[in-house]
Amino acid sequence: LDPTGSHFSHEENDVERALRPLSFDDFAGQDQVLENLKIFVEAANQRDDALDHALFHGPPGLGKTTLAHILANELGVGIKVTSGPVLDKPGDLAGLLTNLDERDVLFIDEIHRLSPIVEEYLYSAMEDYKIDIMIETGPNARTVQINLAPFTLIGATTRSGLLTAPMRARFGIQSRLQYYSTELLSTIVTRSADILKVPIDEDAAIEIAGRSRGTPRIANALLRRVRDFAQIKGNGSIDLKIAKYSLKALNVDVNGLDEMDNKILLTIIDKFKGGPVGLTTIATAVSESAETIEEVYEPFLIQQGFIMRTPRGREVTELAYQHLGKIKGNIIGG
Ligand code: ADP
Repeated sequence: LDPTGSHFSHEENDVERALRPLSFDDFAGQDQVLENLKIFVEAANQRDDALDHALFHGPPGLGKTTLAHILANELGVGIKVTSGPVLDKPGDLAGLLTNLDERDVLFIDEIHRLSPIVEEYLYSAMEDYKIDIMIETGPNARTVQINLAPFTLIGATTRSGLLTAPMRARFGIQSRLQYYSTELLSTIVTRSADILKVPIDEDAAIEIAGRSRGTPRIANALLRRVRDFAQIKGNGSIDLKIAKYSLKALNVDVNGLDEMDNKILLTIIDKFKGGPVGLTTIATAVSESAETIEEVYEPFLIQQGFIMRTPRGREVTELAYQHLGKIKGNIIGG
């Protein structure tokens, strides 16, 4: 099982697409973000302007791509989708930009991974809706400036710290997405079960939701696996018993922590006596980049009360010891 979604098969990607909310009304949670976006969209629609460029940041699976599609739908425009690592030459970007119709959305996932040349090329497109393109080759080569249709760039990033200041400054709208409560996730699970046409009890939806790391993508992935168990081991519908049975068989942590979450906690406990320990030291010990730990793993661990940030570094809490069935060592020394 890989609930983070990076190894989904094509079929699973299709299912994920089917579960994706298409309008503001279908989108659960992130109330503050949504409330503002609704106003900006309505205002842009009234003026018949392109929506200001928007940047979404936050951990994977919280709905950044979904929101980009919803914005395009609510603006009544088309959307083109690409990602930072895919655009390696300004020419790739020019091709996309010149094919946008007025007010269209260009969505760039992992925008922090754009190469510096492509990023710079994007600046004038975002600011003045103009780009320079090279025509002809050899001695006749020259650049001409062309006008683009006014468009909206929507960028998504899990690593806002890696975005350059000039890039960030060009987004008029910036929103940070938060982890979802179990209650919200259970409404998402119920909605998804409905779309998949699998009956589910409320307590079963809550059970799945509570183990989903605050993340809709994980909630949906777990629902699909539990559905398989219900179909083969049960009568096709999901009740609490089959949900618990499946989640146990899938080895899903009761608190929804994933392998890296647990590895981080265990490392701090076993190698650093529970902390405090610096971020880069933890990063080296678990072989992950400090930025990823800080922006992807740590926010959830802090939100759930497993880790504290102190002036001297990261420290695990009593809850982390309990969760891992560890006894706090070094009792004599305090
Ligand atoms: P991100 O781009 O932040 O990694 P996505 O937008 O791809 O995340 O969301 C992952 C999946 O989670 C989507 O397929 C969608 O079905 C679901 N999802 C995300 N946010 C919500 C939400 N607020 N309500 C319902 N489903 C959601």
